[in-house]
Amino acid sequence: MKHLPAFFDLAGRSVLVVGATDSAAQRARLARDAGADVVEAEDIDSSDLAARRPVIAFVATGDAARDGVVASALRAAGVPVNVVDRPALSDFIMPAIVDRGDVVVAVSTGGASPTLARHIRQLVERALPSRIGALAAFGARFRDTVKRAVERPDARRRLWERVVAGPIGQDVLAGRDGVAAAAMLRALNAPAATRAPEGSIALVGAGPGDPEVLTLRAARLLGEADVLLYDDLVDPAILDMARRDALRVGVGKRKGRPSMPQAEINALMVEHARAGHRVVRLKGGDPFVFGRGGEERDHARAHGFDPVVVPGITAALGCGASAGIPLTHRDHASAITFVTAQRKPGDDAPDWAALARAGHTLAIYMGLTSARDVRDGLVAGGLSAATPVAVVQNGTRANQSVSCGTLSDLAVLAARHPGDGPALIVVGAVAALADIPPGLLLAEAS
Ligand code: SAH
Repeated sequence: MKHLPAFFDLAGRSVLVVGATDSAAQRARLARDAGADVVEAEDIDSSDLAARRPVIAFVATGDAARDGVVASALRAAGVPVNVVDRPALSDFIMPAIVDRGDVVVAVSTGGASPTLARHIRQLVERALPSRIGALAAFGARFRDTVKRAVERPDARRRLWERVVAGPIGQDVLAGRDGVAAAAMLRALNAPAATRAPEGSIALVGAGPGDPEVLTLRAARLLGEADVLLYDDLVDPAILDMARRDALRVGVGKRKGRPSMPQAEINALMVEHARAGHRVVRLKGGDPFVFGRGGEERDHARAHGFDPVVVPGITAALGCGASAGIPLTHRDHASAITFVTAQRKPGDDAPDWAALARAGHTLAIYMGLTSARDVRDGLVAGGLSAATPVAVVQNGTRANQSVSCGTLSDLAVLAARHPGDGPALIVVGAVAALADIPPGLLLAEAS
């Protein structure tokens, strides 16, 4: 270790910044962010120095020789100096900083490579939840209460460990401070024997396939999960992001294949959470879009767990982006409807007449095997048979395939997408904007 990392309390104390450069201004800003009383000067004046007694000084005059002279004078006066970008002239160097309120991470390469330090900072930025500072503030808020309620220091430490890594911490990171505070009070008030279970349930959207379009929160919860209950639609690369020792249970329920009944999935979710596990119910796309996430949430609540719901990129958005179809467009469509072609047994068919509107994009989920009915329904409902359509199968994945044509061709197009990869049908003028590989053009389809 070349330098000692230390965090300096500058609140209300005097910091001198010498120079009129951008670097000097940036240091002044940082010092002010830390609460310092900043004096900016183009040069040093010894009487001023004696009067203000700065605790540290930054030097960036823009002139190397001048920097050296100023630094020596300050040092002679007993003020520790940082000369910007000149570690050899500095008593202390500035780290790359990740600033999340109370949580600050400082990265140093001992002055060897500021670029590397910035790169490491980026990695840390990505790894840290954006609300980690709020978690620290939450800790500060309950610190005294916990101290009074839990006398033994080791018990206190265990409690805090559970808070930080458990459901309460998860709630704070998800912005649910009120829920977290209530749980904290319950935990402090309940005698150990009757304490609420420590497990948790999260309904997490895994997106359309490509692991890169997971949300940061989804990636974090995946990494923390003890148990994963995942759908068939979830890409294996995403499951790989979980801990190696996490229990993975496929509860896939794709059409035409044996699947676990919803009631069983619900029961499994609660059973694992009751056993104290952090359960992630990982669902394709978004949990609240055609995914029965609402039912799972209600079931969990009825059993004493209030799941965090992490949104995912729904198939329509993923397919739109990766197939080059803007779902709305000033010239073509000012509204979009996500609709499923499949209903609960016994429900009416979709109201195609209501959906058949010009200037409107339809993203039809689960419509591939009933493409003919979709076409007939929309045409009968009044939509022109010449309306552009696109079929996007395995959207965002390496094996994505796209084909385009008109509504009249829809059944033919659908037949070109065999296999059991999920497919989305896009209907509306924007479908004509899809990027399709040569050889899959519409003329060929009819
Ligand atoms: N909750 C999911 C939808 C689940 S329903 C979401 O928000 O996306 C399953 C249907 O979603 C599939 O039949 C298909 O129509 C669509 N789908 C899911 N992933 C897809 C993908 N990668 N490409 C195309 N369609 C997809």
